[in-house]
Amino acid sequence: MQEYDSYARHPPKLIAGARCLDFLNTIEDARTERLTRYSEFAFWSKAAELVDAGGLRRLLALAAKQPEVAAKALAVVLEARKALAQLLAGSPARRKPAISAINRILAQDGFTLRLAFGGDGFRELWEPDSPELLQPLLILLREAAALLSSPAQPQIHHCADDDCHWFFLDTSRNQSRRWCQMETCGNKAKARAHYRRHHTG
Ligand SMILES: [Zn+2]
Repeated sequence: MQEYDSYARHPPKLIAGARCLDFLNTIEDARTERLTRYSEFAFWSKAAELVDAGGLRRLLALAAKQPEVAAKALAVVLEARKALAQLLAGSPARRKPAISAINRILAQDGFTLRLAFGGDGFRELWEPDSPELLQPLLILLREAAALLSSPAQPQIHHCADDDCHWFFLDTSRNQSRRWCQMETCGNKAKARAHYRRHHTG
């Protein structure tokens, strides 16, 4: 049982300053996969406000009713995450196949965006027959495309901790943010520096 680790019980830390980067941080310590089931992606999407509570319920119900469709959707989610990470941190040679992979996903049929208004304001809406399980991913990919093509692109960095590599948007004035979070990787680095000062020589 992986219940303890579930995003349903322990919401993800959204620290990147852009949720398309937080999405890349669903791998922990550069190796622990958090999106092991479609439902984990659904709970993550709720925490990242890509869907509301009703949307989460619908995604979970759909995934429970069609486990094979949900497994395929999860595979697409993971493929997109890998391609995005390669765009940001891979070698230039990986860039072209990564862009192609993302565009293939974006070009799938049925993703027709509508603008809707109701209740508390405007919101985006897709055609009712669109593959709903992938809607949160499509929002993420659109935001990623917007971020990558914006003047903020050079502010995308990853954590200086060798075991972490979480991505974040460095909005500090002099581009000096080194750690994903001060209270984890930042403190670890401080403790290491302290140890070196007192235990060497
Ligand atoms: Zn870190």
